[in-house]
Amino acid sequence: MAEFDADLFVIGGGSGGVRAARIAAGHGARVVVAEEYRFGGTCVIRGCVPKKLMVYASHVHQEIRDAAGFGWTIPSATFDWPTLIANKDKEIARLEAIYTSNVEKSGARIVKSRAVFEDPHTLRLSNGEAVRAKYVLIATGGAPNHGKAIPGIEHVISSNEVFHLPALPKRILIQGGGYIALEFACIFAGLGSDVTVVYRGENILRGFDEDVRHHVRTEMEKEGITILTGCTVAAIDKHGSEYTSHLSNGSSVASDQMMFAIGRHPSVANLGLEKAGVAINPDNGGIAVDEFCQTSVPHIYAIGDVTHRINLTPVAIREGHAFADTVFGKRPVKVDYSDIPTAVFSQPEVGTVGLTESQARARYTHVDIYKSDFRPIKATLSGSQGRILMKLIVDASTDRVLGCHIVGPEAAELIQVIGIAVKMKATKADFDATMALHPTAAEELVTMRTPTARHVREAAE
Ligand code: NDP
Repeated sequence: MAEFDADLFVIGGGSGGVRAARIAAGHGARVVVAEEYRFGGTCVIRGCVPKKLMVYASHVHQEIRDAAGFGWTIPSATFDWPTLIANKDKEIARLEAIYTSNVEKSGARIVKSRAVFEDPHTLRLSNGEAVRAKYVLIATGGAPNHGKAIPGIEHVISSNEVFHLPALPKRILIQGGGYIALEFACIFAGLGSDVTVVYRGENILRGFDEDVRHHVRTEMEKEGITILTGCTVAAIDKHGSEYTSHLSNGSSVASDQMMFAIGRHPSVANLGLEKAGVAINPDNGGIAVDEFCQTSVPHIYAIGDVTHRINLTPVAIREGHAFADTVFGKRPVKVDYSDIPTAVFSQPEVGTVGLTESQARARYTHVDIYKSDFRPIKATLSGSQGRILMKLIVDASTDRVLGCHIVGPEAAELIQVIGIAVKMKATKADFDATMALHPTAAEELVTMRTPTARHVREAAE
């Protein structure tokens, strides 16, 4: 081992890299972790965690609005953006310190530097130091796409900058119809901004169940969010502190801020991958890996968003853990990617696990759909017009629940738990045998007796 300075060099101190470093160190490996920005990565520093804090902030508006029906008078509530941002920053700094100290406690060495391959085993740091490692783990994550260089693109922010705006924009245009665009559209609407979403396709949330897409759009529009579909932002003009976004359909939108959330790309540039011989997956631009996250170079592995497969924090963490157990724990572990629960923290929230209706109908011959669309009990006094959607997709041949889709309050919390049942291959009869818990919204999931639709596909000739 003396020929190497470290057993493992981890490039990237995000959730996946940190987990891998800690577990590998626990297995006795000499570990170095390099991070050029802040420990915690996208999720902790400028993603899931600060976003969720902002979601909580924007929810308060709904609670205040609902309060009157329950007898509360709340005199002129006001919101202060700088307070939210400062408190959020304090919490992120606290989490970053915990991440750093956990890595240190594990015995790994931290280097605050970019690390670039000089050859397959050698990483060059920005201070000129070279570290030779037996194994290397690439966990550099991803970054927002900027899209085409349209006129005025320099005025557009991404999800990196949105966490540090100096003031709450009165009007904001958000381009994109996926996770980030919708989450921020709802955050800003809840905090009082006038929000316009511009999406290129027919309907938002492509890839989600059709009923979910329709329901989320309807509910967001009820909350006053304008959703323009079938168009893109073609150019932006600035007039003083205001902007006009010219859309591809010939219309225009005035706003004080524009944000694009049109996908993310894996951070593979300027890492010296060519000097290491690490291959890129031509289909998605991420680092090509096998089922053990091993790259084209046997001692180099890659996990998380840099592989551009399923870009979710818990997936990166699982991959990092599996890598460390496989390579340093002498216990080969493959990550199981089936039935991953996921949520969009829009308002209302989306929670989903398993197959959509169209995926199920393409794969199974007999598919039953159970669907309920209702106003929750709270709405009877609050007067809220918000509706909840719950949908189960069932393989009618085996009775197995193939998918569950929820749109409504706490959908993310619900789907985490339903995910266990779906993962355990629960049947509709198992759901039915579970006693309802009354009064809850979730009791719908165990009380939907009659299919709302039954699909039978003729076997192919
Ligand atoms: P998504 O892939 O979710 O959505 C991108 C959106 O931008 C889609 O609506 C897409 O349209 C549209 N788009 C793509 N390219 C263009 C273009 N050139 N011009 C106009 N529109 C375009 O990406 P996000 O940026 O929202 O998020 C990135 C990833 O991060 C997510 O996929 C998810 O994996 C992860 N994430 C997860 C969260 C969570 O778990 N809650 C939260 C935030 C992010 P189309 O559908 O037509 O392709």
